Amino acid sequence: MKKYAIVCKQDKKSIEVSQAIRLELDSIMDYDEKYPELVISVGGDGTMLYSVHKYMYQIESVSFIGIHTGTLGFLTDYQKDEYLDFIEDVKNNKYHIYHRCLLELVANGHTYYALNEVRVENNRRSQVMDIYINHDFFETFRGNGLCISTASGSTAYNKSLGGAVINSSAGLMQLSEIAGIHHNAYRSLGSPLILDYSHKIELRSDNFDGAILGVDQLVFDLKGADRIEIVLSNKKARFIQYRHVPYIQRLKRAYLSD
Ligand code: NAP
Ligand code: MN
Repeated sequence: MKKYAIVCKQDKKSIEVSQAIRLELDSIMDYDEKYPELVISVGGDGTMLYSVHKYMYQIESVSFIGIHTGTLGFLTDYQKDEYLDFIEDVKNNKYHIYHRCLLELVANGHTYYALNEVRVENNRRSQVMDIYINHDFFETFRGNGLCISTASGSTAYNKSLGGAVINSSAGLMQLSEIAGIHHNAYRSLGSPLILDYSHKIELRSDNFDGAILGVDQLVFDLKGADRIEIVLSNKKARFIQYRHVPYIQRLKRAYLSD
């Protein structure tokens, strides 16, 4: 890899780490903001989401890696005091590429991609939505909203909704309810539903007024929409691994103990 770029969270520590990395890497690689092959995300998981969206227009030719300066760091491989190890690993040039699935959704004539999840949320009134799976009616949902997450996003919002944590390499999406209403008159599945590539989820409503469409860190108004179609995309985000951090170790470090 010859061309790189850094996406940096705008706090003091992240800026310091970015400058130090740049000083070291500029002698062996070219800095190319527009068409990098390697994107180094310095910050937290939110910074990684921002990085992936920034380079979505050339997602097939970019590889991402994260240096962690924030609070959690589930999507990042190096801690802030390990940036010299990172430079050493880049110089050694031994790596493994792995892919993270993206969701592809269409709403209001626009196509969006998500690394973590798609959320349809309404805090003003109960949102009624008919859920179709592969064009067949599945159920009517009533409540605050629905979240459809990837395996990578299963540890993010999905986890707060009681969804399952799914190994990030799995080509699966998970539909979870946000405060669903369940009683004798209104019934929906209630439990998270995990589906694979062969499924398309469609959320239909004749009234999305007041509802928002959340796509990772981005938020859009759903006014005027009548349906949202969601599939696991053929496009994938490439992540580069210079050192192997087993998934279970990542999970333990982030949620249980160091
Ligand atoms: P944020 O408010 O900073 O994100 C909330 C937390 O989610 C942060 O601690 C963030 O880590 C962490 N996070 C993001 N992606 C993750 C992943 N794949 N696995 C584990 N943790 C993850 O907002 P943000 O940084 O812009 O991130 C947007 C994401 O936040 C959304 O995609 C959504 O999943 C998540 N979110 C969660 C809740 C909730 O759990 N109730 C509410 C809103 C948003 P960093 O601190 O390292 O950024
Ligand atoms: Mn964040």
